[in-house]
Amino acid sequence: MGKEHLQASLRYRPQFFRDVLGQPAVVRVLQNSIKFGKVSSSYLFAGQRGTGKTSVARVFAKVLNCDDRKEHEPCGVCDSCLNITSSCDPNVIELDAASHGLKEDIAELQKMAVQVPYPGKKKVVILDEVHMVTPQGQNAFLKLLEEPPKEVIFILVTTEPTKLLNTILSRCFRLDFRAISVPEVEKSLRRIFADAQVQVEDSVIRMLLNNSEGSLRDMQQVADQLILMADGRLTEQLVSDLLGYMSVDQYKELAFLLCCKDFGQWVDGIAEMFESGADLSYVLTKCLPNLIRDFRCSTCVDDDWDYLSGIAHSSFKKNVALTLEEMDLLQQAMEDVWEMNRMGSPPRLCMEVFYAKFLDEARYQAKCGS
Ligand SMILES: [Zn+2]
Repeated sequence: MGKEHLQASLRYRPQFFRDVLGQPAVVRVLQNSIKFGKVSSSYLFAGQRGTGKTSVARVFAKVLNCDDRKEHEPCGVCDSCLNITSSCDPNVIELDAASHGLKEDIAELQKMAVQVPYPGKKKVVILDEVHMVTPQGQNAFLKLLEEPPKEVIFILVTTEPTKLLNTILSRCFRLDFRAISVPEVEKSLRRIFADAQVQVEDSVIRMLLNNSEGSLRDMQQVADQLILMADGRLTEQLVSDLLGYMSVDQYKELAFLLCCKDFGQWVDGIAEMFESGADLSYVLTKCLPNLIRDFRCSTCVDDDWDYLSGIAHSSFKKNVALTLEEMDLLQQAMEDVWEMNRMGSPPRLCMEVFYAKFLDEARYQAKCGS
């Protein structure tokens, strides 16, 4: 497959420890375990999605089996490294527990794991989404961990370590992967756009980062979509049209509507958003909470702040006319209509009910208070 056809998340998948983004502590621990000959027989890689857990597991497997290891990095060119890169190395077994949750499959795994690897090699079993394994499966698996077959290393990968049995947790050397920081995601995004020779406005990068939530993989996938549509230049308008992300100006408009306390104006504003093709479900579940969070921050910080909406601090100070009590009511009304939305009410209706609830409650409280 040509390099240009690979998705960004695969194209930029780290092949060496030095390429792993945002996990210096994890990388140091793994490299040191090799350096000092203290490789454990089972690891738990825990952390939110898109933070590089399986990629790191593969790099680790590569270093362990590389024929020409250099400074605790794989060489990248020996047969073993090449086979692992293309997922066809018999010593590295990768299983997705989401589809292997049953006890019988663990028995299968047991059989596979006891097959001895080639001399001088380690067998590395990467069990992805391991929290999906049933409790019976986990118990069966525990036996493997208690008496690990020789030369076998288990790497359990999970986004939800709390769903694992304590007996499993206590058998594993646990490494926590942290969310990828904003500057790291930014660096990666800029590199992807530069490699694809797409010009990007800074405000676009800002918009994407505000939606990144620490998952590098998600952002790389978004970048891929955008590159296909960009035609060499990526504008705020295009991102807003393609992904439904809100631009700073749209956030300002929403902030203005929230503060106006006029139901007619709110409904008209929502109608306008709807007609311009905005994804109101996204506005309801993502933009509203972002903005309410920003309102709150603006009351307790004095200077520039990393606002999720991208609105400038001075603009918040000048234009936001909400009391702390009103912010509480907005939050409450929003959470109430989320429930409606979950039960299937259309987002446009939810947006309207949200504001009606807020105004009603604000008026009621004003009456009680006076
Ligand atoms: Zn190698």
